[in-house]
Amino acid sequence: MDFFYPILYGMFGAVTGSFLNVCILRIPEGENFVTGRSHCPACKRQLNPLDMVPILSFLFLGGKCRSCGERISIQYPLVEAGTALLFFLCCQAKGPGAEAVIMCLFGSLLTVGALIDARHMYIPDGISLSILVLAAGSLMIAPRPGLAGRIAGAVICGGFLALLRVLTKGGIGLGDAKLMASSGLLLGVGAGMAALLAAYILAGLWCLIPLIRRRVNGRTRIPMAPFFALSLIAFGLWYREIMAWYMGLFLS
Ligand SMILES: [Zn+2]
Repeated sequence: MDFFYPILYGMFGAVTGSFLNVCILRIPEGENFVTGRSHCPACKRQLNPLDMVPILSFLFLGGKCRSCGERISIQYPLVEAGTALLFFLCCQAKGPGAEAVIMCLFGSLLTVGALIDARHMYIPDGISLSILVLAAGSLMIAPRPGLAGRIAGAVICGGFLALLRVLTKGGIGLGDAKLMASSGLLLGVGAGMAALLAAYILAGLWCLIPLIRRRVNGRTRIPMAPFFALSLIAFGLWYREIMAWYMGLFLS
């Protein structure tokens, strides 16, 4: 296996991760995340380029701001390393090319949506809208899944959550339904439905121990975007492999 391109993608992923950190921090504040120099949240000092090398700056600065010594959130290097891994895996699974780039963009949008949901309990509409645009674009580049499968994916994934929202009287966020509808349009009905089911299994497992210890109950609101993100990326990259493994469990 040749690792040249996946490593190249991974390095680009680390740089992209820095930008995703800025988006995660600024979008909920309504700040401009495209322009405007980065600054320390504590002392407001502008960061110089040496402070902004992905992962490495955090390590060399010992996780502290150079001027005020305030601790830098571990989220920054984690998102950078996570995005590096994401881009590496996208290239590994799809081969260097348009399909890998689409999955890198999809994964980046999901990362921002997941972390904003985890911190602020909402998914910005801009994330779902961007995925919608990405899905439309990918239809021109990747012939599979076909248009019918994609529309079915959007209708079933989004519709299921919208129905659940009505049945649970608002227990499911509208943002969740929008995110899964646009993601269903990108991945198609098979991978979309599998990801939806897997996300709820993951969330159930995540809540199992707090549930046993009675830290959460039926009324506790759980941000779903992190679970949607993980399973959408997994099924976007390895739908066939995961399904083959799952079928193998019953056939062997
Ligand atoms: Zn500072």
